[in-house]
Amino acid sequence: MNTTIKANPFDTTILNNGVGSRELRDQLLKATETLISSLQSSEHPYSGKAPEEVESEIRQLVTFREDQTSFSDVIDDLNKTVIDNSLFISNEKSIAHLHCPPLIPAVVGELLIGAMNQSLDSWDQSPSATFMDQEMIQWLTSQFGYSEASDGVFTSGGTQSNYMSVLLARDDYCKKQWDYDVKQSGLPAQFNRMRILCSESAHFTVKKSAAQLGLGENAVITVQTDENHRMSLSHLRSKIAEMKSEGLVPFLIVGTCGTTDFGSIDPIQELAVIAKEENIWLHIDAAFGGALILSHSHREKLNGIHQANSITVDFHKLFYQPISCGAFLLKNGKHFNLMNHVADYLNPEEDRDEGILNLVSKSTQTTRRFDSLKLYLSLKTIGTNLFARLIDSTFELATDVADYLSEQNDFEVLTKEPELNTVVFRYVSDQEINQVNRNIQQELYHSYAAIAKTTIDGKNYLKFTMLNPRTTLKDVIDIIDRIRVLGEKWRKHV
Ligand SMILES: *Cc1c(COP(=O)(O)O)cnc(C)c1O
Repeated sequence: MNTTIKANPFDTTILNNGVGSRELRDQLLKATETLISSLQSSEHPYSGKAPEEVESEIRQLVTFREDQTSFSDVIDDLNKTVIDNSLFISNEKSIAHLHCPPLIPAVVGELLIGAMNQSLDSWDQSPSATFMDQEMIQWLTSQFGYSEASDGVFTSGGTQSNYMSVLLARDDYCKKQWDYDVKQSGLPAQFNRMRILCSESAHFTVKKSAAQLGLGENAVITVQTDENHRMSLSHLRSKIAEMKSEGLVPFLIVGTCGTTDFGSIDPIQELAVIAKEENIWLHIDAAFGGALILSHSHREKLNGIHQANSITVDFHKLFYQPISCGAFLLKNGKHFNLMNHVADYLNPEEDRDEGILNLVSKSTQTTRRFDSLKLYLSLKTIGTNLFARLIDSTFELATDVADYLSEQNDFEVLTKEPELNTVVFRYVSDQEINQVNRNIQQELYHSYAAIAKTTIDGKNYLKFTMLNPRTTLKDVIDIIDRIRVLGEKWRKHV
């Protein structure tokens, strides 16, 4: 019998301890070097190509051959099309959205996550990752001031976390108030009386969740904001009183810690008092502002957050993680029972009886990424002090930029004292200002800097979101100078 070992045709394609390991190293080196040279040669956040041109280049790329192609060639083609025409989010002049430049250990963490490919639904698919995920959740809950009774789960981001808050608050209310089991029986007959309260600046995913969970967008009642874009407490109280007199049942208040445009923070302590008095679930959407737990200068703005029944926090924003990475934290971990579904192949009752931890019970997802690893690597490598400085420097820059803009007489600034790190402003002139600001944002994107646009009370504004700790005041002043030049130009053309 011939016992010579034949090379397996899949050796270079699937990770293994032989040829596959060398292949991994080679491909990684090629990809890393390509990325580095692309970073080095990119001058602006965006190449400036017209969308149709990029679309057609990519259409030509997406065809597959029957035969293999060398990874190196594939990457070279990718570089010229996808990488070079991507938004260089780490560029100092990319300051548009809540979209962060990623930390280096977290980027490398993505490789480990992919290579280990643990699945966080059942313990047997993630024997060590399950515990890392759980320990990271416990570290987080304690940072937010929660007790041992709390729990949480990593999510794909704020959308999923907010969805989970509406789901659990809804089902908890029905159970407590009406002894009604939504999981088994669907929505109760009284469902059309159930109401959610949030401010008019709350994230749109509150309404989206209400719609998806059968309550309808109209179940979300928006509360006015004050001059600082925070939920008005007097208006909240009067809304609650009004609802009760109409026989409606407010079961959830969503407070926002860091609204998308203004970074404003609803009065958390006072919301907690009202929620308790009224026996309403309080959820704090801290997708943006949750990173303040690490801040030295702004941490006290989270005071009272431990009283919330649940919290949304995103790590792919001010925690500088590659997309996606978020968490949903729950003050009373027992509430996860409301959404537990048993699958005999993943989390059977016997496993629970034997103390085997299958995290699928806590998630709306089944197969789930080991995202906690990249956050762990970042915190461990960078340390909490430098992390705090990363975050705090963006707040300082926003203040400096707002001060600078306020001194210019051709700019109107809405955030004279930024709460977090967004600056909302617009170029003013005697002409049709809305169209001028729209044109400025677009032309700037294609030529020099990525900044955002937003609409406030029907007027077009421009917005900077300072997420890059490497962006300097000089970088931003250079952008402002360009805005002025474009403003002058468009003022004459529209
Ligand atoms: C970004 C954001 C969300 C949505 O989170 P994703 O991670 O994009 O799903 C929800 N709420 C607030 C306040 C946000 O800033």
